Amino acid sequence: MHPIKALLLLLVLSSLASTTFAQSKDKKASTRTEKFSPQVEKLLSQMTLEEKAGQMTQVDLSQFVKQDLPGGIIDQAKLDNGIKKYGIGSILNNGKNHAQTLATWHKIINTIDSTCATTRLKIPIIYGIDAIHGPTYLVEGTLFAQNIGLACSRNQEMAKKLGALTGHQTRMSGVQWNFAPVLDVGRQPLWSRFCETFGEDPYITTVLGSELIKGMQGDNLKSTTSVAACMKHFIGYSWPFSGKDRTPTYMPDWMMREYFLPPFQAAVKAGAKTIMINSGELNGEPVHASSYLLTDVLRKELGFKGIAVTDWEDINNLHTRHKIASNLKEATYLSVMAGIDMSMTPYTFDFANYVVELVKEGRIPMDRIDLSVGRILQTKADLGLFENAKAPNATLEQTVLPSHEALSLEASREAIVLLKNQVNALPLNKTKTFLVVGPAADWLPSLSGSWSYSWQGNSPEFYPSKYKSFLGAFTEKIGKANVSYFKGCEFDSLGKNNIDQIVKSAFNVDEVIVVLGEAAYAEVPGNIDDLTLPAIQIELAKRLSETGKKLTLVLLEGRPRVIREIEPLFNGIVLGMIPGPKGGEAISEILFGEYNPNGKLPFTYPRYPNNYILYDYKYCEYVRGAAVYPAPKLEPGYYPQYDFGHGLSYTTYKYSDLKISTDTVVADASFTISINVQNTGKIAGKEAVDLFITDLYASVTPAAKRVRGFTKVSLNPNETKTVSFTLTKADLAFVNLKGKTITEEGGFEILLGGLKKQFYFKEKAKAITSNKKQTEVKKNK
Ligand code: BGC
Repeated sequence: MHPIKALLLLLVLSSLASTTFAQSKDKKASTRTEKFSPQVEKLLSQMTLEEKAGQMTQVDLSQFVKQDLPGGIIDQAKLDNGIKKYGIGSILNNGKNHAQTLATWHKIINTIDSTCATTRLKIPIIYGIDAIHGPTYLVEGTLFAQNIGLACSRNQEMAKKLGALTGHQTRMSGVQWNFAPVLDVGRQPLWSRFCETFGEDPYITTVLGSELIKGMQGDNLKSTTSVAACMKHFIGYSWPFSGKDRTPTYMPDWMMREYFLPPFQAAVKAGAKTIMINSGELNGEPVHASSYLLTDVLRKELGFKGIAVTDWEDINNLHTRHKIASNLKEATYLSVMAGIDMSMTPYTFDFANYVVELVKEGRIPMDRIDLSVGRILQTKADLGLFENAKAPNATLEQTVLPSHEALSLEASREAIVLLKNQVNALPLNKTKTFLVVGPAADWLPSLSGSWSYSWQGNSPEFYPSKYKSFLGAFTEKIGKANVSYFKGCEFDSLGKNNIDQIVKSAFNVDEVIVVLGEAAYAEVPGNIDDLTLPAIQIELAKRLSETGKKLTLVLLEGRPRVIREIEPLFNGIVLGMIPGPKGGEAISEILFGEYNPNGKLPFTYPRYPNNYILYDYKYCEYVRGAAVYPAPKLEPGYYPQYDFGHGLSYTTYKYSDLKISTDTVVADASFTISINVQNTGKIAGKEAVDLFITDLYASVTPAAKRVRGFTKVSLNPNETKTVSFTLTKADLAFVNLKGKTITEEGGFEILLGGLKKQFYFKEKAKAITSNKKQTEVKKNK
């Protein structure tokens, strides 16, 4: 053979041998069963370890902006460091602690994109933001009611539409990933993030959370109106023992599964692309280090395939706050091995360095890294970012649509709950004169709460001028000449106000509107020690009541602050919770009878801060009643200021003809519960219908009642509609002490619109075998 040919042959053979060796080596080493699209697999095969570790790193935009320029303009050298040197996979936040204009967003996103285009593999960044109730950080963006308001509305279609609004405005600004919805169930009203929850009921949270996700992600993630959703915060975040943000939660496994897991389970089914982890600890283990929660429950049980991102600095927190890792490298090891895919570092690149070291040392297998990086790249591919990660070329008019603003107003209207209306205190008469008093009256942040044009939401200077405070909206209805205003006090102190002077001026008007509640706050800064409304606000209301004038109370608050002492001073009470920036308009419409209120409480409004028993209490929480202590010495158990589901209207509804399609539900057969709802008043209205079912006897103590369905109907005067719910045994299930979701044979009771009906569930068509359940099923009345 010619020597050159021989050399060539040798080269070919040796290269074949080395390829085969490399492939077989890879094959042998890889135990990864989760496979990604060919495009992602190819990239994984091309990437260096450093590039992979970079993809798992998420850094705050503030690290890449010129601090001396307003508007968050990118500092290219810093960005090059993040993207070219470290190959980071994701950037988050707004860079300047407040909203940016659409043009600035486009510039930020496009600069990032063109920087990525200069890297070896041209992998785009996925950009994440907290668009919690609309696009938080977009100047002129449309915000709307917080989740708690959405839950008051019980309006499932509205949730989907608001999700779509968020997807539209967020993606049009160039951002493709939204850290929402919050799926934490709000069973601890002291918690500063209560307003971000859908209240205390797992079912309501499950349904509305899934609808938001469907709306946000749309039918096509590549569309310029869709974003990847991020269900959060997995899991147990909302039930801190102390009531303080980011503090430990203790709950048995069955309880986690019964009350807190279902919204996440449903969100995975609804296709949520990503998940964020709870910053706190559950049963002594920080969730960021729990392979039981992050791998066994989330991946193996729930079947979640997307990205698990940490919350803010939470890998570091395993070292600095939770003290389970003696250094940051160890913290990285624990968290990656437990199952996180991306670290919101958010200010350093240490995480990437530690990942590289840990893999080189053989402590973290390459397969583990490939799994995370594959999930990240796959999400980018699903969002269409490999084809185009530039911001859409959209104007503000195409981004913030008039229909969005109209939807926000509609959401505010339905979020408001008329708590009290005695002696027809409401609606108000437009020909009267009014004094408006209270710290929340002329304070935009009280309407919108956290995540409103800034993280805390408490800077009105960043709010668009299109939004009005309650005072602004109220005054617009009846003219300046008929409204006078005093702040009265600050939220927590008297400040420079003079209550005597205010009381005096009350004598000059016909009626007084007292607007109390809370300023905006988010997370730890929103921690409180007492659920009672601050003493100064209580005093203000009491002093005003001395005038003998008719007082109406408007409450704007993110959690149910206790008002027991002053509640009797008002015949009319309207609860705004956090109704959104159009809430001032919506409340004014309700006060003047232009809109018929229809919100219902998705939580139990406590009468005392230390007597917080939820609507789905266990029977023994309904502490010893008349049988033990005859009145008036009754020991109160469930004794709220206002019941879960409470909410008045200016019309009346009559419920009749409660029916169930069968007296005995058998095995997997579906069954239907129906009822007629009639508007018996004089004006049109919307009625939220909550279906409660009680499991009469169960091997885990049953709740007094549980929401198993809800809907909303519109009814003209005299109109009757039949509302029906189709259920299966899954809707009667509970979690047993072994953590299994089961439906036990036995009797159940439906509670719907004040009517009741019992039925039986049995597993098999033959005779009832269970002797555990001796309930006799009463025949239809
Ligand atoms: C919050 C998250 C949020 C993240 C990014 C954290 O402090 O707990 O809910 O998504 O910051 O802004």
